[in-house]
Amino acid sequence: HAKLDGRNTYRFFTPEMRAKSLRALQLENALRRALERKQFQLHYQPQVCLRTGSIRSAEALLRWHHPELGSISPAEFIPVAEDSGQILQIGEWVLKTAVEQLKQWNQQGLGNIKVAVNLSAIQFHQPQLPEMVSRILTESGISPDLLELELTEGVAVQDPRTATATMDRLNSHGIRLSMDDFGTGYSSLSQLKRFQIYKLKIDQSFIRDIDHDSNDRAIVSAIIRMAQALGMQTTAEGVETQAQLEFLQQQGCDEAQGYHFSRPLQAGDFEHFFRSYAQSH
Ligand code: C2E
Ligand code: MG
Ligand code: MG
Ligand code: MG
Repeated sequence: HAKLDGRNTYRFFTPEMRAKSLRALQLENALRRALERKQFQLHYQPQVCLRTGSIRSAEALLRWHHPELGSISPAEFIPVAEDSGQILQIGEWVLKTAVEQLKQWNQQGLGNIKVAVNLSAIQFHQPQLPEMVSRILTESGISPDLLELELTEGVAVQDPRTATATMDRLNSHGIRLSMDDFGTGYSSLSQLKRFQIYKLKIDQSFIRDIDHDSNDRAIVSAIIRMAQALGMQTTAEGVETQAQLEFLQQQGCDEAQGYHFSRPLQAGDFEHFFRSYAQSH
């Protein structure tokens, strides 16, 4: 029962609307038109094999440029799209676009490059997700083992049983799963052993200070050894320096990704980077 406020003004905003910032509402409105107005683009960041030095895969990262609002970071608009439900349509566009790109790269003979796509927990919990992804792959004629889906630890918090079942269904279609931002979420190690996860991506917050923080070094080295024992690959995120790279190599980390190699690039620039990198490594 609403309290009359002193100024006797009409309360225009519902509590739910007030809870969202004006900015979030503005983004939500702008997002409604973003797909049809072709304001999204995917950028690709190389993931480098530390044993052979070759580029094994590319992570697709969503970019949004709005004519008035400018470029908006996915860290800002993805949560808005999740709250409004728009992430489902946007996520499907990301999957289709990434698989289409993968097909082109395969036809161009760009190594045996794989593409990794980030999946929101909301997409992951859609019952029809595994079939949707599988259909996109079949329609493009791409082998499912060239697609990686990056999940975050949060996907299994509420209902580990259903999450495990969904992972099994994705795996049965031949699709590989990675755990993104590993170490920052809520996953328990007892759950992790049950997950059919192919790769752990060590969060960049553990990599950043690796040169001078012995705790971070201990954590990273423990994650790598645990992953090895569980039969999982490891990818270090946010690698920016040669010293970080050398430590990771020493510890037996499988892959690295970060500005040390390249920032995320437009598809054409990625191809260019891939070819010149292949020649010099
Ligand atoms: P993420 O999946 O963990 O992606 C890695 C983020 O780290 C990217 O930020 C990337 O540009 C950035 N990064 C890469 N190397 C370095 C480095 O050496 N140093 C630093 N400081 N940063 C580095 P970005 O592109 O801004 O994406 C942020 C997050 O937004 C992603 O984190 C992911 O959670 C989400 N995201 C991006 N694209 C999508 C998408 O298509 N769907 C969904 N659901 N989420 C997405
Ligand atoms: Mg990711
Ligand atoms: Mg990450
Ligand atoms: Mg992240």
